[in-house]
Amino acid sequence: MRLSFPIALAPCRRTALAVALCLAVAVAGAGEVIPVQSTLGDRLAQIRELNKYVPERALPMLLELEAQSRAAPLPEKIEFLNQLSEAQDKLGHAAQAAAAADELVAIGRQYDNKVALAKGLLGHGYMAFRQQRLTEAHRLIWEAEKLAHQTDDISLRVRATVSSGESYAEEGNFPAALERLQGAATLARQHRNPTQIVIALNALIRLYGQMRDHEKGFAILAEALEVAKQGASPGRTATLKHAEYGLAIDTGQNQRALNALLESLEIERGIGANAMVTRTLVNLSDCYLKLGDYPNATRYAEQAVEAALALNNPTVLATARLNLGQAYLATGRLDEGKRYIEAGMQAYEAKGDKPELQLVLVEYGQALERAGDLAGALKAYHRERTLSNELFEKRRQRAVLDLQQKYDTEKKQRQIELLRTENEVNRLQQRVWWLLAAVFALASVVVGMLYRKVRQANAQLYLKNKELKQQSVRDPLTGLYNRRHFLDFMRTHTPQESGGERCGGLFLLDVDHFKHINDTYGHAAGDAVLTAMAASLREILRETDMIVRWGGEEFLAFLPSIPHSGLDEVAQRILSGIPAVTIAHGDQTLTVNVSIGFAPFPLSCGGEMLPWERAVNIVDMALYLAKAHGRNRAYGVQGFAEPSHVCIEEIEQNLERAWRAGQVRLSVVQGEWQEPQRASA
Ligand code: GH3
Ligand code: MG
Ligand code: MG
Repeated sequence: MRLSFPIALAPCRRTALAVALCLAVAVAGAGEVIPVQSTLGDRLAQIRELNKYVPERALPMLLELEAQSRAAPLPEKIEFLNQLSEAQDKLGHAAQAAAAADELVAIGRQYDNKVALAKGLLGHGYMAFRQQRLTEAHRLIWEAEKLAHQTDDISLRVRATVSSGESYAEEGNFPAALERLQGAATLARQHRNPTQIVIALNALIRLYGQMRDHEKGFAILAEALEVAKQGASPGRTATLKHAEYGLAIDTGQNQRALNALLESLEIERGIGANAMVTRTLVNLSDCYLKLGDYPNATRYAEQAVEAALALNNPTVLATARLNLGQAYLATGRLDEGKRYIEAGMQAYEAKGDKPELQLVLVEYGQALERAGDLAGALKAYHRERTLSNELFEKRRQRAVLDLQQKYDTEKKQRQIELLRTENEVNRLQQRVWWLLAAVFALASVVVGMLYRKVRQANAQLYLKNKELKQQSVRDPLTGLYNRRHFLDFMRTHTPQESGGERCGGLFLLDVDHFKHINDTYGHAAGDAVLTAMAASLREILRETDMIVRWGGEEFLAFLPSIPHSGLDEVAQRILSGIPAVTIAHGDQTLTVNVSIGFAPFPLSCGGEMLPWERAVNIVDMALYLAKAHGRNRAYGVQGFAEPSHVCIEEIEQNLERAWRAGQVRLSVVQGEWQEPQRASA
């Protein structure tokens, strides 16, 4: 019957780790009388074997040794606490088991004893497993495994590695599980310890079973049975028989499964391993149900129920009741059968094991149908359907939740990715800004420098231009305005007839006998005379007067504003001022006289204002007169006669004749000591 298979196997399967652990160690000494004279270590070793399968007998023995063990050296004390924790755990005394494991951990930490620490952590791991706290159990076991490998305790290392492999198998990580269990088997084989080898191989067989690799499972089973024959206890053989039963059931070899169980039962009864016996009875009833041997199925199921009640194990009891119910149904004891099945199902329901319950209901319905209770079968069928729908809905919700979670995770991942990209972009942007700022700052510095340079260059240019302009309007020797500047000035200057007391004045000067100075004292002396004369003229005249080097040793002075009566006086000042300047040349001192021609400016004749060129020409003629009449004197035009008597062209051609003809009035100013006198024709 399909029904009983998972249920019958379940107690062993679902507690695979616990079963593996409880069956793992030899039971050679179990049931034997322990000699009182043995050492504490020996006695603990012997109890250890018993503890694996008959903890209810091992615990009182351990407690008897408690005082002695606690006072013993560390190795014995550690071994005692390890066994105490195991015994209490198996008997369901969780608090005592945890306390002993805590003590182990404390000793491990206090004395840096890795054996104690690993055993303590393993103890906690097994307890967590029994309480269905799988994640915590696995973490503790893996931590213990790491520590165990740092010790030379082979039994501890094999045990921890096997537990680690089983933890991986529970997580569905079969490659890691296989690697661990094969490693444990290799380690045990290397040390040729049959007990350790069987522990590792037994776990490996179960893993191959889980992996549906039955062929390899049977091969390892053969090896394990061979090793067990050589140096193993009946308990170990019983363990392997259970493994054989699992493989046989999985491969549909029900008879072989039955035989393995019967052999196992005999051994277990021999050593008084009640817990194992109970499980075996449950599985035997299942096997007989499968084989259609209902009397035997009934017999073993009844025994199983009785044993489970004695053991006080609700899970095993529930399975035993289901099997018994099946057997009763098959033998026509409908009411009793229904009662047992309902009771069994109640326990499953209480545990919340809905998938198992669904399977039970299917088998239940089929059994009722076979028994002719069609109404009951229909009811069971309806219950199964309801449960199935419930489970389906739950699975669907779970799947939706999973999908939602997956979607949320992906969405979050995408958001993170987006944020990362945004951050990257921001960082890049920031870098670009910094770069731009740096470029801008650099450019500003460069522009600033260039601007300063340009400003400096401009300033220099301005000075140069000024200098050039100066040079273009000044005479290099004397620093006076040159003739070109005067021409430019006159071109842009419109002379204004003042009509009042004041007028402008033009004075043209020529050094007397200058050639003589050049010839006598050299050209440099002549230059020095010219320079001194310029300085002297600046002194004599006003700042507002324009003094021009007219050419060679000739100077022109334009006085923009002067009283009519002041023209002669200015001529006098020049005539007496120039010779007053002494020019040192070597050990000589030189002085010069000048001759001057002058006129008011603008110069009007008969109401007509003469152009400046003609005015300068008349002044030049006056200068010529001064030269001709003895030098060191000044001849100035004072005015013209009545317009009817004046011909300006005649005057311009011969000033002296026009003067004598009365067309023009001249004043004559004598140099130095001579008083200026008014000349008349
Ligand atoms: P006068 O009394 O008739 O004016 O006679 P002068 O010798 O002063 O006149 P002249 O025209 O015969 O000679 C002028 C001389 O001035 C000729 C020329 O070599 C000289 N001279 C002209 N310019 C300069 C100059 O810049 N430096 C020097 N040292 N001599 C100059
Ligand atoms: Mg001259
Ligand atoms: Mg001269």
